[in-house]
Amino acid sequence: MKQFFGAGAPTRYRPELHYMRGPGPKTRALEYVDHSPQPAPRAGANTSSTQTSLSETKAPSEDDGVETSPIVSDVVKQTTCYMCACRCGINVHIKDGAIRYIQGNRDHPVNRGVLCGKGSAGIMQHYSPARLRKPLLRVGERGAGEFREIEWDEALTIVTDRLRNIRATDPKKLAFFTGRDQSQSLTSWWAMQFGTPNYAAHGGFCSVNMAVAGLYTIGGSFWEFGEPDWEHTRYFMLFGVAEDHDSNPIKIGLGKLKARGAKVVSVNPCRTGYNAIADEWIGIRPGTDGLFVLALVHELLKAGRVDLDYLVRYTNAHVLVIQEPGTEDDGMLLRDANGKLLAWDKARACAVDALDPEITPALKGEVRVDGRTCVPVFELIAKRYLDDSYSPDAVAERCGITAETIRRVAAELAHVAFEQAIELPVAWTDWAGREHKTMRGRPVSMHAMRGISAHSNGFHTCRAIHLLQVLLGTVDVPGGFRFKPPYPKPAPPSAKPCGKDGGRPNTPLAGAPLGFVTAPEDLMIAPDGTPVRIDKAYSWEAPFAAHGLMHAVIANAWRGDPYPIDTLFFYMANMAWNSSMNVPDMLRMLTDKDAQGNYKIPFIVYSDAYFSETVPYADLVLPDTTYLERHDCISLLDRPISDADGPGDAIRHPVVEPDRDVRPFQSVLLDIGARLGLPGMAEADGKPTYRDYADYIVRHERTPGVGPLAGWRGTDGKSKGRGAVNPNQLDRYIANGGFWHHELAADQKYYKMANRSYLAFATEMGFLSKPDPILFQLYSEPMQRFRLAARGHGTVVPPPSERKRLDTYCDPLPIWYPPFEEAAIDTDTFPLHAITQRPMHMYHSWGSQNAWLRQITSQNRLFVHHDIGACLGLRDDDWVWIESHHGRVKGQVRLVEGVNRNTVWTWNAIGKRRGAWMLDAAAPEATRGFLLNHAISDLLPPDVNRRRYLNADPITGQAAWFDLRVSLRKCAAAECGQTEPQFASIPSPPDLPAPPKKLRFGVQFRRAREAAE
Ligand code: SF4
Repeated sequence: MKQFFGAGAPTRYRPELHYMRGPGPKTRALEYVDHSPQPAPRAGANTSSTQTSLSETKAPSEDDGVETSPIVSDVVKQTTCYMCACRCGINVHIKDGAIRYIQGNRDHPVNRGVLCGKGSAGIMQHYSPARLRKPLLRVGERGAGEFREIEWDEALTIVTDRLRNIRATDPKKLAFFTGRDQSQSLTSWWAMQFGTPNYAAHGGFCSVNMAVAGLYTIGGSFWEFGEPDWEHTRYFMLFGVAEDHDSNPIKIGLGKLKARGAKVVSVNPCRTGYNAIADEWIGIRPGTDGLFVLALVHELLKAGRVDLDYLVRYTNAHVLVIQEPGTEDDGMLLRDANGKLLAWDKARACAVDALDPEITPALKGEVRVDGRTCVPVFELIAKRYLDDSYSPDAVAERCGITAETIRRVAAELAHVAFEQAIELPVAWTDWAGREHKTMRGRPVSMHAMRGISAHSNGFHTCRAIHLLQVLLGTVDVPGGFRFKPPYPKPAPPSAKPCGKDGGRPNTPLAGAPLGFVTAPEDLMIAPDGTPVRIDKAYSWEAPFAAHGLMHAVIANAWRGDPYPIDTLFFYMANMAWNSSMNVPDMLRMLTDKDAQGNYKIPFIVYSDAYFSETVPYADLVLPDTTYLERHDCISLLDRPISDADGPGDAIRHPVVEPDRDVRPFQSVLLDIGARLGLPGMAEADGKPTYRDYADYIVRHERTPGVGPLAGWRGTDGKSKGRGAVNPNQLDRYIANGGFWHHELAADQKYYKMANRSYLAFATEMGFLSKPDPILFQLYSEPMQRFRLAARGHGTVVPPPSERKRLDTYCDPLPIWYPPFEEAAIDTDTFPLHAITQRPMHMYHSWGSQNAWLRQITSQNRLFVHHDIGACLGLRDDDWVWIESHHGRVKGQVRLVEGVNRNTVWTWNAIGKRRGAWMLDAAAPEATRGFLLNHAISDLLPPDVNRRRYLNADPITGQAAWFDLRVSLRKCAAAECGQTEPQFASIPSPPDLPAPPKKLRFGVQFRRAREAAE
């Protein structure tokens, strides 16, 4: 073992210790000896003793004569916010049938009454002049925005006739992709019943790296899958977070941490939002987070500061890995004849079931089992990350962080995890029946999202963060990262993607189109290796693309690669603008025609509530309602509102009736399904199974007794999770404020991956198929299977052209490599990283068209470090060309200090196309706001074989938005004044009333009040 640690390296790792897995007295605590400097965590910036945690904060006294809560409404209805993806509970005050005021719901488990600026501005979202008002049929050229209004019957006949023909002949010719909607359990079921594999939501261009890396490693991930233990964490690391992901919950949580004096460390190239209130900001270079994290791992291993007891109980750290280079099972985990994982038992000197509670597992050393050489996973981990290439000195310059900082952060993590370990006086029993008197916790927690994900090395970076958490023993323990039920799931979840045959006429798929591959045999490829899906998800180019690749659909459909499609059906995704890379070419593809004058993408159906930039590119537009006018289901089958203390789900319900001829998309989808006679949506006599989405929410059962909502099931409404359909279920939700939440028993709240009581509960609820423990996969065997295929083993192997790439990136342990764009271009020509952040007060393009939120930000600027500004002779508000290897964009500069010196950044999705969203043609969003998207290529530069891969992660296909490299050039005087590129202004749809010059809200309430007075 010594050679792995280097001759001179301090051996803080203690391989000589025996780590017992046995119960009671056989188990002994590990001895952690601390030889390294141990600085105490810095005091937080807001540690005043006068501060109390939010949960203890009382509302201000109202007996001072000031009326702080005047009655402003006739009625208050409780529903769920949709101004971003956090799903806070809201009280909607309605006066004279109009929305008067939106307030946070104090009883709601997500926000506890907290409402953000976006949430309150929901009024202007609801009353936006850009709301569509009737179905639209294109009458001019695609892209020209020329439509006529049609009736719903005509619209539904057009779409149904088209889809009926597709389904009867070749169902994959329907590509159905949805944006950031919250009904994916419905939409994926619909696609499955239709029979097309070409379905996905927006995850491929958002944070699939985070989701997949987590699900394959620990059976869960951040945000919707888990959260920090806000009540007990003492050291919180926040990596590259988008502020509209997990917005209010994080703000509330950060408030609690600051009040308790916990240390908040943010790792982000930009010091904005949460980073601005962190106790320590680490302005890392974009795309190097994985290297930084693995350097922390190096330091922890070198110092022996890892929780070996935790590792052998809850991970595959002790499982044996076959080491027989050149053979077909080299690198695979060792199993017995029954498929059980094996580990080396030192006491018995033989390989035994790795989950045997009596095992005394070896974590080091080479053994021979059945004639094969094997080593434990942990030995591979130690060998890799103790290498000097991961040392702080080796990575510091690349990361833009000093080696001292890396060493100090590692020491602080270890200090808090091991010297400040906490124990909750809660007895619990693990899966093997071992009783524990307390719940021990290591109060270090982490959170990461899109900033980490959106790189071509994002998958491995996310894996590295989970590795770091697990090595510290901080996953689902007091003070650490905690799973939100229904997570954890087995790592990975068992569902495989379906539709490998491409779908058969008039036949549903055997299962959902999206799932989790574990071997090349699971890929969605034809026998000749051709991708089955239009987005090429689950092909050799993106084998673990569990959220699909929505960002590849337009280009592939335009090229007819791997085949032409007939109909592209988008919902709630602004694919002709801020949701696509390379916007100018995407617009050309959407309107391009073949030699016969037919559109290369024959038919485009789009559903949205608003007149976005994508509407003009549709042939048929199905107008959706706003979130306050429809039913929705925030389901445990999809992405619920659970917290770590228990599962929860929620609904939306119409708090006002639509005043336009619009219909909720989910009801329309069910209507189309019924007209097509899709199984589960139409009865034998052809009648619709469900009246509408509300009816579906109540009566649909995915498996017997399990439906979209978990609360108040059963005919008496007393069951949770499983139970018969309760016709009054929606009423029960409405009476309860629009949500259901179940509080776990105290002994179920932690160690969910191995907690007997929780596992039984999760099985009873249908979260798990059986109450088996969930073993964290530090070493990923599915990855190794693809690596072996790349080396020619197995029956499904990649073509020679793909082998090197797969062999390199399908590494079973986390790796770091430079982002692809950076590696492919001349970085002297494009020396700067360019990234975007989301403003806390906006959510995608929705927020930046909102009359109230626009007043906060109506123009984005490029934030540039003062040093770069000085080099380039730039001053505030100068115009610059932002040039990439692919294109250029023009915008105005703002000089700042709080940014990595090699990085420029801007707010996302502020720039708008002239004419869209019913904004004035001279609106600053269109004249001065800009999108970096135009400069981001959807493809990487050609490789040595002239092959152009997607600008994406090679494992998941996640769009690598943040790999962009640029140079800046100060504009000449004649070039200043307006952003570029500019696109033709799009006319507003017919009969959509022109917005007033000055948009005002609320004057009618004042007039009515004054009249009454
Ligand atoms: S955080 Fe999101 S869901 Fe919550 S109130 Fe704000 S906009 Fe609404």
